[in-house]
Amino acid sequence: MSDESLHDPAILSEGEHWRSRDLAVLWHPCTQMREHPDTLPLLTVARGDGAWLVGHDGRRTLDAVSSWWTNIHGHAEPRIAEAIARQARTLEHVILAGATHETAIELAERLLAIAPRQPGRDPLAKVFYADNGSAGVEVALKMAFQWYRNRGDEPRRTKFVALANGYHGETIGALSVGDIPLYRRVYAPLLMEAMFTPSPDAWNARPGQSDADCAEEAADALARLLDEHPGEVCALILEPRLQCAGGMRMHHPVYLKRARELCDVHGVFLIADEIATGFGRTGTMFAFEQAGVMPDLMCMSKGLTGGFLPLAAVLATQSIYDGFLDDSRDRAFLHSHSYTGNPLACAAALASLDIFESDDIIARNQVTAAKMAAAAAPLADLPHVAQVRQAGMVVAFELTRDGDRSTPFEASDQVGLRAYRTALDRGVLLRPLGDILYWMPPYCIDDNQLELLADTTRAAIGAATLKAV
Ligand SMILES: *Cc1c(COP(=O)(O)O)cnc(C)c1O
Repeated sequence: MSDESLHDPAILSEGEHWRSRDLAVLWHPCTQMREHPDTLPLLTVARGDGAWLVGHDGRRTLDAVSSWWTNIHGHAEPRIAEAIARQARTLEHVILAGATHETAIELAERLLAIAPRQPGRDPLAKVFYADNGSAGVEVALKMAFQWYRNRGDEPRRTKFVALANGYHGETIGALSVGDIPLYRRVYAPLLMEAMFTPSPDAWNARPGQSDADCAEEAADALARLLDEHPGEVCALILEPRLQCAGGMRMHHPVYLKRARELCDVHGVFLIADEIATGFGRTGTMFAFEQAGVMPDLMCMSKGLTGGFLPLAAVLATQSIYDGFLDDSRDRAFLHSHSYTGNPLACAAALASLDIFESDDIIARNQVTAAKMAAAAAPLADLPHVAQVRQAGMVVAFELTRDGDRSTPFEASDQVGLRAYRTALDRGVLLRPLGDILYWMPPYCIDDNQLELLADTTRAAIGAATLKAV
């Protein structure tokens, strides 16, 4: 749509037209629908173009959150679009029980080839597909539990350990190992009991304590918890390096090393939830690489298809897989989703992996991440910015009343909501997590877009904190 159309009243109202049709029939995710349309305008998107979302009026909005952390190479990336179209004309879907297809096989081979490794340890060797992140987490939890059940150990290992402030999705099992009250509280009576261990989150470091010492201290707490529950725990699940939904909180990779050692000592499986961190988001292909260790089970989704289609993959070691082999079907992993290993989604994922290679994405991201650091640095001096932190292609701004760690804003100040609205007015989709603003853009973000992002963030912080003090 051309820029002239901005002045055409018929087209200007097209966004309005879609907004009213939407509110008549749609129930949006993670949304208090009362807030639409008055408190929050609904962004109507006609098409995507790289890091831009383009409205019906031709207005461009920068997708600074990669559409819920899924998009990595930009919207409507032509190579991925073409791969999906080609696949759709060839084989759109086939049952994956008792049948197979090339894209599912090739994707499994390539995911295993790039998965984190650890010297002296058998690599991840098998891939189980699901169709979204939460479903992938359910798969990993059930596999860990059933592996021990299949072995016939008594008393059985039935418990999961998870990190404080972690997030693993919204289905009942995934929610049970999540620790974010906003999502969890209402459903608490439905959830299975998990054990939570302190997060290595460097934000919680005491004054003068290094990030590494903070992580070590959390690992010591994990050690105590596992000591207190010998033979009860089947798995530890965690988000490596970066607790995303928990506020883009980051930790030192030494925690992962320690967690690996402790899991080994206690016979506990280590589940890496790399649903948000995978595919280059924290600087390496997978966050676990930064610790030089590997998990026993690894969940991927979000960026897996470049942000085009829902797909999850759970990678498992050979010994976990072997624990399900038996003459009896009772010992098999009978979990399934209708769209397991969907060929269109697998084709998108393969095209995305091709782009990682052809465009040298991980190396290019190092340059982009350095530019993001430079663009973010001046904002650290703003009065209400308590911390600016970064892990690869994620930058977060923690806002507090006095710009220190001990004076959080009141929820009633609605700092995040006001920042969101201000940014949207200025053409940037920032969707804060509480009072934490963050940049998690598609990797194709260019210098001009980054400048817009930094200017807008500054304005959003200013507007959001103005009335709150
Ligand atoms: C988003 C997310 C999930 C859940 O994935 P969905 O596809 O939204 O179900 C699980 N774990 C982490 C770390 C996530 O960020």
